[in-house]
Amino acid sequence: MPGSGFDPIAAPYVEVALPVPLRRVFTYGVPEPLRGQLRCGSRVAVSFNRRKLAGVVVSGRDDLPDGVKRALTVAGLLEAEPVFSPELLRFLEQAAKYYMHPLGEVLRAAAPALPTGAMKRLRADGFLEAEESLPGQRVSHPTTWRIESTGRSTQGVRLGARQAAVMGLLGERGSLLLDELRRQIKDPRAVVRALADKDLVSFEEVEVHPDPFFRSPVKRDVPPAPNAAQQHAMDAIRDAIERRSAESFLLHGVTGSGKTEVYLRAIEEVRKEGAGAILLVPEIALTPQLVGRFRARFGDEIAVLHSALTTRQREDAWQSLRRGRVQVAIGARSALFAPVEALRLVVVDEEHDPSFKQDEGFRYHARDMALLRAQYAGAVCVLGSATPSVETYHRANEGRLRLLSLPSRATGATLPTVEIVDLRRHRMGPTGHPLLSRPLHAALGRCLDAGRQAILFLNRRGYAPSVRCVGCGALAECPACSVALTEHRGQAVLRCHYCDFRRPIAAPCTSCGENVYQQLGVGTEQLQQAVEESFPKARVARLDRDTASGQGVELVLDRLRRGEVDVLVGTQMVTKGHDIAGVTLVGVALADQSLAFPDFRAAERTFQLLAQVAGRAGRAETPGEVVLQTYQPEHPAIRLAAEHDYERFYAEEVEARREVGYPPFARLVGVRVHSGAEGDARRVSQHLADTARQHSAVREGAVQLLGPAPAPVARLRGRYHYRLLLKSPDRKLLRSVAALLAARIDAGLSPAHATLDIDPL
Ligand code: ADP
Ligand code: ZN
Repeated sequence: MPGSGFDPIAAPYVEVALPVPLRRVFTYGVPEPLRGQLRCGSRVAVSFNRRKLAGVVVSGRDDLPDGVKRALTVAGLLEAEPVFSPELLRFLEQAAKYYMHPLGEVLRAAAPALPTGAMKRLRADGFLEAEESLPGQRVSHPTTWRIESTGRSTQGVRLGARQAAVMGLLGERGSLLLDELRRQIKDPRAVVRALADKDLVSFEEVEVHPDPFFRSPVKRDVPPAPNAAQQHAMDAIRDAIERRSAESFLLHGVTGSGKTEVYLRAIEEVRKEGAGAILLVPEIALTPQLVGRFRARFGDEIAVLHSALTTRQREDAWQSLRRGRVQVAIGARSALFAPVEALRLVVVDEEHDPSFKQDEGFRYHARDMALLRAQYAGAVCVLGSATPSVETYHRANEGRLRLLSLPSRATGATLPTVEIVDLRRHRMGPTGHPLLSRPLHAALGRCLDAGRQAILFLNRRGYAPSVRCVGCGALAECPACSVALTEHRGQAVLRCHYCDFRRPIAAPCTSCGENVYQQLGVGTEQLQQAVEESFPKARVARLDRDTASGQGVELVLDRLRRGEVDVLVGTQMVTKGHDIAGVTLVGVALADQSLAFPDFRAAERTFQLLAQVAGRAGRAETPGEVVLQTYQPEHPAIRLAAEHDYERFYAEEVEARREVGYPPFARLVGVRVHSGAEGDARRVSQHLADTARQHSAVREGAVQLLGPAPAPVARLRGRYHYRLLLKSPDRKLLRSVAALLAARIDAGLSPAHATLDIDPL
């Protein structure tokens, strides 16, 4: 990358960021052989507390810090090229500062894993052994056939059933892999040979792409002509890209309004200029269809970063981006750190999604950081959503983001009608199942009779969320966490959803020894069973973390798309951007679930979930229908989601936030304390509260201090958790109190641990 990197450091010392929980960098000397070889962003090995650690050089310096007489020297250079570009490193430094998180940990989170054995391959002079001498480099991938239609008509050709099936699939998809056919027909190789003999198909041997997202070929698409609203949005974004102004947009479009098409065009635009783009999506594993659309437009010139990649694949993706071979990165929140060259566009799809917030270690919010990275790179940022977060919409109203609206569905389909069912009046459905009320049961019946498909959403997996001993009334609880155990009937176990503790259902109650339990509440497993019992002819499938891992999601969604499933029951997984034409009915089994969370964002979350899941219905010609069951039909989040009235919901919600002084009218800093003993966690959190009160802003009330209090899940994996919350409309003051706490935390609080959470969710 000539010209795009840092210059070599000539200084005798360097500052190194190390992956240790301390908010500072460390000075090391540069040994003679490495003089002039290190750059900012270089990964180096150094000794730290008698251990060898990998750190990142962040700057050079001419002398030792005041009061330091001697420094250790850098032990070795771990990679020839710096791991970060200047743009990326400067952005990450800013992000670490914003989140008051140790820079070394931020850099470790953002960098790919070190090549295995790099630490051990350092020679005495600090350089790496030659790469060629390493055994086991790059293995070749297995191969399969890629089958394509020759375009010859099958009219008048006699085809067997399996041959006809292959031709049918080819008609839909354009091309196929032999490996894919194995799942569907017997001995596909012979069938394909027979078709080739009839000159209907051709095939060639190809390597199996190591990444499952790229395994099956896709047909290139023909972009639809944009409608007026899309055109307006595209023009505004293209204009900003061309003017190289780092402008930020909010693309607010109802579900199915064609936001993805706008992203595709915007990316096309930067590609034309030879520049790069990042697209962040909530959970990549749940959106194979979206990746398919990007491949259909851009072929394989995209890097998809997802958690199922092996270290090697991740390294490959990282290198192709770093070297500019591929300039579009798609992924979940950590794709924010993709080393895209000449970055000119960052898109955050479903910007309201809470999964953009990392909830352990470096607790960043990928949407907020996307705005920052775009600013550092001089890139355009587009946040898209049908249900923008209150903070984002507020920003747009203040003019800090430019608002672009797509007010109607792109295909001309109408938004579905929503019927609210008051569960207080409909206690029991016609088949005796509490969550299949009469209206929902009737709607399902009509939908199935018409040969259409339905999605039922319930945000609890398992059979019953909790069970109670009939003998003594004790709730079955996790021995390590303060939460109830969930019954999973299929596996015949009670499970903790936090630490995955399991115990056989048949085991006796730990309090009284009895082993008869009463189920409390309904989970997806039970709802599936209820649907199967109520509609014995329906083909029912389930999509949740228990039935779907990795590729499983795609398989279930494929079956739904091919019409092999009539009713899909599932958790939040079913609410994400799927676009399936045959689905005309969406049932929300229990809309109030997310309202029960002790969180000021509970109403917002509920509104978003309901609006998103409702958006799955009726995306093609047949109008959609939504049945929403609730115990709180009057609640604004539920009522306004039913009316598809985002603006109204926002207006009411933002007023409520203003009155009580919550974001966006104040900022928050959370402090989390945990320890193996309850007393220590309580004492240390009390001590940190006292520390905060030493600050005049807290004493005078300019910064409010809430807590300490036990966390909502007070015991987790055997450790006790306490929380403090700082809140203030004055960002500077709030940060200065947080800085005081950070200093206290860095001084050590053993035996407890404490971390800061800036802008907690
Ligand atoms: P969103 O991302 O807002 O949910 P999508 O981009 O997925 O919406 O678009 C919904 C459907 O409308 C897709 O099937 C897409 O191919 C189609 N679509 C998008 N733009 C147009 C257009 N201008 N004309 C016709 N169909 C369109
Ligand atoms: Zn547990």
